[in-house]
Amino acid sequence: MVKENLQEVIHNMEIACKNSGRDMKDVTLIAVSKTKPNDLIMEVYESGIRDFGENKVQDLVKKSEELPKDIRWHMIGHLQTNKVRQLLGNTVLIHSIDSIRLADTIDTEAKKKNIHVDGLLEINVAKEASKYGFIEDELEEVLPIFARYKNLHIKGFMTIAPNVDDAEENREIFKKLKKMSVDINQKNYDNIEVRFLSMGMTGDYVVALEEGADFVRVGTGIFGKR
Ligand SMILES: *Cc1c(COP(=O)(O)O)cnc(C)c1O
Repeated sequence: MVKENLQEVIHNMEIACKNSGRDMKDVTLIAVSKTKPNDLIMEVYESGIRDFGENKVQDLVKKSEELPKDIRWHMIGHLQTNKVRQLLGNTVLIHSIDSIRLADTIDTEAKKKNIHVDGLLEINVAKEASKYGFIEDELEEVLPIFARYKNLHIKGFMTIAPNVDDAEENREIFKKLKKMSVDINQKNYDNIEVRFLSMGMTGDYVVALEEGADFVRVGTGIFGKR
């Protein structure tokens, strides 16, 4: 089942790339394996996927210890500062940097471990009260702060689009994040390079790819309901 689901997702991604003149090699599917057991994760691994996403530090660390070492683990969930130390060294990319306090902690802990950490800023594009992340209006004030970090490097933006029935409703959200990335790159903030957009989930990854997603995060579409 999981392997068939995965093939379908990859097929849909190929069509989306083709339709928007993009190269499949330039986009990355993150299989969101949160709450899922290792045997299912291994099925996806055996089909060639190496990028997996988790939203809880304990689960990510545990799975990274138990599963093959060439898996790239992406931290996609809200991150508490007291969990940062445990996470660092186990993740290839933190998608969910949603406050300066968290960024401060990541940089400090990375310094202690003498490692460099890549992160994405979570942007609450639709300004939903229920969601974490920076809103567009505060970016001008917030982005210069990242220049002070020596060990944390910002490589792009992530967003969780609203839960909608028709993915087309989120097209404007993805367009807007893409536009923000272009605008902000032109401003050349120190230590901020918006190279990667992490956007699109099971319900809307095709639309997100058409609008410029570099990472799509698909859970249910591969592993089934949680
Ligand atoms: C759970 C989760 C996903 C995957 O959601 P699906 O709808 O199951 O594909 C993607 N991104 C984040 C941040 C998540 O927490």
